[in-house]
Amino acid sequence: ERASLALIKDTPSVTLDGIKITLQANIEWPEEAASALAAGAEGIGLFRSEFLFMNRHGLPDEEEQYQAYASVVRAMEGRPVTIRTLDIGADKTLDDEATVATNPALGERAVRYCLARPDMFATQLRAILRASAHGTVRILLPMIAHMHEVRACLAAIDSARAELDTRGQSYAEHIEIGAMVEIPAIAIAIEPFAEALDFLSIGTNDLIQYTLAIDRADPGVARLYDPLHPAVLRLIANTINAGTRTGKPVSVCGEMAGEVSLTRLLLGLGLTSFSMHPQQLLDVKREILRAHTNALRTKVAAVLNRAEPIDPKTL
Ligand code: PEP
Ligand code: MG
Repeated sequence: ERASLALIKDTPSVTLDGIKITLQANIEWPEEAASALAAGAEGIGLFRSEFLFMNRHGLPDEEEQYQAYASVVRAMEGRPVTIRTLDIGADKTLDDEATVATNPALGERAVRYCLARPDMFATQLRAILRASAHGTVRILLPMIAHMHEVRACLAAIDSARAELDTRGQSYAEHIEIGAMVEIPAIAIAIEPFAEALDFLSIGTNDLIQYTLAIDRADPGVARLYDPLHPAVLRLIANTINAGTRTGKPVSVCGEMAGEVSLTRLLLGLGLTSFSMHPQQLLDVKREILRAHTNALRTKVAAVLNRAEPIDPKTL
């Protein structure tokens, strides 16, 4: 089984009706770029930068971050590397900081945390920009809910560029900037975000958590954590459709993207870009090679507005 999967590593991921599907990898550590390449990933769709900050004392400085990001960018040899800015908070905490929030998942997390600490954010942005001199870097902003957060992040990126100009340090002229769609508010009111940004990446792990009010880390309610809830699927569909209308690429980088039993459903929702753990990539690719996107789109459109969850096995 594994051996036959390896045979499709270099096969282009195209459905039976000729739709090209982009398959990228999620990584947490720079060393994982090798596994991404070994699985045939076309790029890194999600580099969770917070792992550089966790399980240690003190923050990584600009140089340490730059080396980590640049090593991934170099390893990927021109393929896109999507670096997500620090997503700390909720279940991912810094050792030096005791969480005081009563509800950390709803608290000062990710971009909220970074915008409240401009120096720390600027350090990370400069490190990411410097890494862009070695290949193709995209910046991904986590936990975006408001347009004013997008504007504040874009301004912070501009200031980081200006600082590098002052220092005479180089960075790529054009860097795509996107947002995670993982808070229901933005998935519902998606238009201005799709217009203002270069791409969107749906974080289904948090999108499900916040849509269903289920703590993703609480085993007591795990049975209610349902990726197939019609509300979740409609939020995904709404985001994909906004991407189509505005011409902006939309991917899914949450666990749903690597869940092979959901591949046909996601294709049927119109998804053309998936990012997942490298280990899942070839299984998902095999499913894509066997799928007929247009037939799936018709089937999914017919059941999307039903009140009951779709059974993906019937697609
Ligand atoms: C997500 O929320 O789906 C996601 C990809 O981000 P993380 O799992 O790191 O929160
Ligand atoms: Mg998330």
